[in-house]
Amino acid sequence: PVVERVDLNEIVASVAALVERQAGMQGVRVERRLAARKLETMADGAQIRQALMNLCLNALQAMARGGTLTLRTNTSDRNGVSVEVEDEGGGIDPKIAARIFDPFFTTKERGLGLGLSIAYKVAIEHGGTLTFRNGEKGAIFRLALPGAN
Ligand code: ADP
Ligand code: MG
Repeated sequence: PVVERVDLNEIVASVAALVERQAGMQGVRVERRLAARKLETMADGAQIRQALMNLCLNALQAMARGGTLTLRTNTSDRNGVSVEVEDEGGGIDPKIAARIFDPFFTTKERGLGLGLSIAYKVAIEHGGTLTFRNGEKGAIFRLALPGAN
């Protein structure tokens, strides 16, 4: 892993650009709400990008009939940084909530069930966390990472 000082805002912006085409094709608007200041963290940028891609692809798959995908960055407690990926796809069924991070757990006909387990591993290996909750219209996944000194 190549650990460098990276700006979470830049990573999120690059992921947003990557998912924009697919989003557009299915009537999903990508909303960027990026913190005004730099959000520096020591990380393998490629891994963080991959984790965020996995979260965004799940969000898009949950919104087959359109909606808004919101990417929100912020500072978090104790010098940390965070990004939230929020969709309008109906949210996580409480019956499966305990298993979604398990490798190979999927509810999709052609799912591999690896996206979230990989994202979770990336978060933990960076000293961070990956959590989720249901919002008003869909799921909200939050990746929190330690801030750089
Ligand atoms: P896959 O996408 O291949 O199914 P993941 O590990 O990415 O595997 O996700 C595991 C499961 O978690 C999904 O099959 C789905 O049931 C649930 N899930 C993940 N993201 C969302 C989301 N944004 N909204 C609703 N359910 C989700
Ligand atoms: Mg997935």
